[in-house]
Order: sequence, then C-alpha cells, then structure tokens
Amino acid sequence: MPRFKKVAFIGLGLIGSSLARVIQARSLADHVVASTRSIQTLNDAKALGLIHEGYSNPIDAVRDADLVVLALPVQATEKVLVQIKPYLSKDVILTDVGSTKGNVVRAAQAVFGSDLPIGFVPGHPIAGSEHTGVHAGKVDLFAHHKVILTPLDSSASWAVQKLTQLWQAADAEVICMGVDQHDEVLAHTSHLPHLMAFNLVEQLASRQDNLDIFRYAAGGFRDFSRIAASDPQMWHDIFFANKTAILSAVDGFEAQLKTIRHLIDTDNSQALMGLLKNAQAARQHFNYMLSKHTVMEKEQVTQKFTILPQKHRFQGTFSVPGDKSVSHRSIMFGAIAEGTTHVTGFLEGEDALATLQAFKDMGVKIEGPNQGEVTIHGVGMSGLKPAGKPLDMGNSGTSIRLLSGILSAQQFDSVMIGDASLSKRPMERIAKPLRLMGAQIQTTGERGTPPISLVGAQALKGIHYDLPMASAQVKSGILLAGLWAEGETSVTEPEPTRDHTERMLRAFGYDVKTEGNRISLIGGGRLVGTNIQVPSDISSAAFFMVGAAITEDSDITLEAVGINPTRTGVIEILKHMGADIAVANERIAGGEPIADIRIRGTRTLRGIHIPEDQVPLAIDEFPALFVAASCAEGKTVLTGAAELRVKESDRIQVMVDGLQAMGIDCTATPDGIIIEGKGKSGDWSPIFTGADVESHHDHRIAMSFSIAGLRASDVVTIHGTETVATSFPTFTQLANEAGLAIQTIG
Ligand code: NAP
Repeated sequence: MPRFKKVAFIGLGLIGSSLARVIQARSLADHVVASTRSIQTLNDAKALGLIHEGYSNPIDAVRDADLVVLALPVQATEKVLVQIKPYLSKDVILTDVGSTKGNVVRAAQAVFGSDLPIGFVPGHPIAGSEHTGVHAGKVDLFAHHKVILTPLDSSASWAVQKLTQLWQAADAEVICMGVDQHDEVLAHTSHLPHLMAFNLVEQLASRQDNLDIFRYAAGGFRDFSRIAASDPQMWHDIFFANKTAILSAVDGFEAQLKTIRHLIDTDNSQALMGLLKNAQAARQHFNYMLSKHTVMEKEQVTQKFTILPQKHRFQGTFSVPGDKSVSHRSIMFGAIAEGTTHVTGFLEGEDALATLQAFKDMGVKIEGPNQGEVTIHGVGMSGLKPAGKPLDMGNSGTSIRLLSGILSAQQFDSVMIGDASLSKRPMERIAKPLRLMGAQIQTTGERGTPPISLVGAQALKGIHYDLPMASAQVKSGILLAGLWAEGETSVTEPEPTRDHTERMLRAFGYDVKTEGNRISLIGGGRLVGTNIQVPSDISSAAFFMVGAAITEDSDITLEAVGINPTRTGVIEILKHMGADIAVANERIAGGEPIADIRIRGTRTLRGIHIPEDQVPLAIDEFPALFVAASCAEGKTVLTGAAELRVKESDRIQVMVDGLQAMGIDCTATPDGIIIEGKGKSGDWSPIFTGADVESHHDHRIAMSFSIAGLRASDVVTIHGTETVATSFPTFTQLANEAGLAIQTIG
C-alpha cells in the first residue's frame, strides 16, 4: 500500500471525498487536509472524519503536501494552479480527477510553461454518480471501476507508480493512455451519451403534453434519461472543455441518425433489421466483456509440476484416455440426433466436459460421464433450447469453434465465453465463413477473440469455402452450420486435416461426401442416435511415445490408440527420426481405426527436416516432438507450422523459451523452429539442464516439458500445469507408473 505524509484535496465533493474515504479507511496518509469554497463542506468533512484540517485558501492546504489532488470542476484548474504554484513541494505528486484531460494539461502548461512538475500526472476515475457533494462520496465508489492516468513526457515514473498504487488501493483498475486518446474515447462513451440524455429530456420537456410524457414514461425513457439528472455545471464545463472531440462525436451521431431515419422512411425492413441486430449483438458483447465474469479469475489459478532426475526405466502397458476430438463430437452429434446415443471411452477432461455442460445448458438430457460412459438423449435438429446464460467453453478451442457453427443456425441468441487462454485465440477464422452463410456472429477482443455473440433465427445458405488455413475446427464449424443451411455446403482444405467430423456424421447416418480435398454435405437432413466407442487419444499417447523414444531401455505399449490417418503424423515423424516403433493389432472401432503401439528406446534419434505434408497430421504433437528433436543427433527443422503460434499458447515461442532455459540451442522462425539436437549415437546421458519453465497454462506444453524431465540432469519445474486436466486427467498418475518422478504442487 502507498503511504503519504500529507494529502491535500482541492475540492472535496463526490469524487474527492470518495478518495479521501479510501485514504482514511486504508490509513494511507498521516495527515489529510482540504480546501473548498464553502466552510460548510469543510466542517462536514471534518465531522465525517475525512480530513484533519480544512482551509478556505488552497495555499494553506498544499504547503508540505506530498500529494495534491485537484477534485474540482475542470474549468477551475488554471486559477487554482496559479494560486498554489509557489507553495508546492519540489517532490509533490500533483494529480486531478477531471473528466477531460486536454484542457487540464493546457491549464498546467499555461501556469508552469514547459517546466511542468515531474510529479504532475493527470487522472480520471471512470466512476461516479448523478449526486454531488461531500455527503455523496462512497468508500467503494471506485471499486471494480477503471481509472485512467494520462502521464506526460515530463511525468516521473515513480509518481505514476505511486498514483497507480493509490488507485489500486481503492480497488480500481488503472489504465494509462495518452491525453488525446482519453478525450477522444470519453467523448464517445461518456460525453455524447450525457449530451443526448440532456437533449432528449429537453426535447420532451418542451412539448405541450410534457406532464403526460413524464407521468407515463416507460422504462426506456427512465433508463436513458437517468444521466440527465447529473450536475449541469459540470457537464456545461465538460462540453466546452472537450469541444473538438465532442463535436466530432455529435457529427458521427447525426450521420447515423440520418441513416436510420432514411431506412424507416423508405420502408427498408431488411436493412433496418440488420442494423438493429448488429447493434444488439455488439451490446451483448459489451455486456459479457465487461461483466463480472472475468477471465482473470482462472488465469490466477496456478499449479506446478516438479520432475526429479530420472532413476528408473520408462516402461509399461497403458491405456491413455479417450480421444478429445472424438469425445467432443460424440456429445454434439448425440445431442442434435434423434434417439439415444451411448458413448464409451469418453474423455472426462475439462474440455470435453465443457462441451457436455453446454448441451446440458441447452436442455439436452445427458447421463454420465461415469467411467467414460455417457448416454445422450438426442433432441433432434430443432430441439436445442436457449441456455439463458453465456455458455462457458473453458479452455476448449474445439468447443467454441464447432459450437459457433451449430449455434449460428439456432432459433435463439447465444453467447460463448472462455478462460484466459481461449479468450486470446482467433475466432474470426470461423466467424467469417459463417457470416457468408448468413449467420449473425460477432467476435470481440482486440483481434477477433472471444466472447462470441450469435443472433438466432437466421436463414443460413450453403456456401463453398476455400479454407485459407488447414484447420479441422474451422472445417467442422462450417460443415455443422451446413446441416441447417439451404442447399450444399462445401469446404476445400489446403492440406488434409482431421476428418473426425466427417466420419462421425456418417456414423450418425448423415451423408457427407469427400472428393479429394473437397468435403460437402446437403443441409436439411437428420442424424440418428448411435453407439460410439471413443479410441485412446494419439495426442496423449504421443507424450509416452516421445518419452520412450528418448530414454534408454524404455519399453512402452499404448493400447487401442486411434490411428485415424489424419492424426498419425507423430508416428511417421518419429519413424523418420529413426525411432523403434511398431503398430500392431489394427482394427476398427466406432468408424475409427485403432491399434496398439509399442515403442522402445533402443537407438538415438536423428534430426530431420520435417516433411510439410506431415504438419497438419501432427499439429498437436509438435511440442512433444520438439523434445524428441532436442535429444536427436543433428539439426531438426520445422517449416509450414505457423498455426502453432495461435494454439492454446504461441507453441513455437513458448517451447523455444523453455528449451533454451533447459540448455538447448534452438531458434523460433515465423512458421516453425530450428533445433540443434544434442544427442550422440549410443550416449544416453542427460540432454537437458534443470530449469524453471513456464507452460503458459498450455496443457501440451506442460506435458512436453514433463517428458523432457526423463533426460534432465537436475530438477525441472513447470509452472501453470493445471490445464493438463483439460485433455489428460490421468497424466501424472500414468507417467509416474511408467517411471517418471512427477510431483504436483498447488
Ligand atoms: P462535486 O461533488 O460538485 O464537488 C466539487 C468540489 O469542488 C466541491 O467541493 C466544490 O466546493 C469544489 N469547487 C467547485 N468549484 C470550485 C472552484 N471554482 N474553486 C475551488 N473549488 C471548487 O463534483 P465532483 O463530482 O466531485 O467532480 C469533481 C471533478 O471530478 C470534476 O472535475 C469532474 O469532472 C470529475 N469527475 C466527476 C464524476 C462524476 O460522476 N461526478 C466522475 C468522474 C470525474 P464546495 O464544496 O465548496 O462547493
């Protein structure tokens, strides 16, 4: 907590007295004083215990103060600064709370010239009320609100830092931005709405029938006009103080008003509906973006693994959990099918459970999961119901992208949100093609990231879409929307990607055509419930495969692993690197090929240039393969894998950072990595040094560094491992059974 010797408020109304309440409640100052125009305010403030002394002359207040807060109307700033200038301490922090910043800075420049005090840091709390005066203040006025600081070139960083701490002590979130940017943003988001509220009330008040209008005012008018009850003097000052930006905001409003007027005048129903729906979707975004459900809560959860240096062999026969991709789809398709679907081997990880919960929220009766068994009572193509709350997709990219397709076609509106990591991932790649089909879908965040809002009751039309990137999630999202679309929906993919959606739709009786790299279906059909056996996940098996490949005398068998040809890149790449792998007992289960995979540590791997055609087939396995490459003899080069940068983390950079910390010479490239393998033929001594590495809450990164611990000379600590449960809840248990020594902390 910051500490001040003497804080002086010039002006002690709503804002000043609220900050004084925080300072007193948190004991942040030895002495608090104020200067206001009226003696009454000072007496009241004393009686309320907010100040120790009050002065009618600001000069008396600021003497020896180490913090001076101007909490008065912005127009009065220059006059007060002229008065107090000679009496300010050399190292004073001088700040204000004014709603406009450009004119406060101009006032300071008029008084101090170019020699602005280094402690001068303008500020603006984005919190308030329509009440004014010292009695209106509240200790929690700023809690969970933003405070904008607009430091100048002359502002000292210590002053910015201490002020930030002060506002944080008021439980506010502090943001720094430029003076002009502040005034521009606030002109649109605060000043224009206030201007409109005052203006509308004035317009209605001057009508003959004004009494009736106010008497029968509907909620809309009451809500909209609430802010017109604010202090006229303050708003009068603000409108002049931020004249340029406000006039430009008014011009924008006028133009938009003309547009909507014209649409009504010309009976342009479609365009008017489009405009209203767009606005509604944008408003919903806003709501969820700004609602209390912040992604930060989850980001703060943190757990770590420590891996002790290897003492045992790495061996055993294991069944890794069910395939994540197949588990997700079994729930989705079972839910929209007619009749009952019975699933075995379902992955009870957080991602697949997020999908399961979403469909429960949309009224689907689902029993389980119980030891991998789930029964879904399908509601048919038109049986989903609005959830009545945002659907929480947790960490799952598959859920949010595939559900985007399904929800675009429903009769109701939906919102999808996610955790910290998912909230950073790109969603425009799925939103764009869905919009082409007629969906009303909005992404938010700086670069088209979640939350996603969808407006229901849109008539979708089939399209042909050339996928710009090899992404099974985008392909699947489009095909799923296509189930409800008019006519044919088809997708061409640049490289073959996972075809679980196509295979499972066929298993549910839906006709999906694959001609080369073009996949198509005709909308309007139905799915029929079926039984799905989920194969073991090759992506989870990959950690054990790599672990065995880099460890002397290891011998690991992984049973009933899904070997869908769109997923077996990891086997091919490891074979190419010289690993001792055998694939046996191949069979078909639930439309998907499965097999037992045995892998032994009998020879040192060799570095390779990974063939680009294998990249989409091993996309999730690269973090583990980078560990294998580090233990190989010679250089490994990966290209054509830019997609890795937008996974749960930037998997190229995060792996490079971690591997370098573990003593590996590697370089990130825009679309891949170059790793100088440290392996030497026949030498099984440690490759990695002990290190503290960050997984960035990415489950596959966490498991990859864990496996690297098999060849580490010292303890490896991996931070942010709690997301491992998203895809592989039994990872530590199975890895420890195989001979790795992992401890979970936190
Ligand atoms: P307020 O409740 O009306 O209090 C204003 C205080 O300033 C009073 O103590 C008043 O003294 C004093 N004052 C007024 N004119 C003065 C002058 N010419 N010289 C010296 N002192 C003077 O106002 P407020 O809501 O706290 O607003 C203060 C500042 O915060 C404004 O710059 C405003 O833009 C900004 N702000 C307001 C809100 C909001 O919602 N209200 C939100 C964010 C920022 P008396 O007590 O003697 O009258």
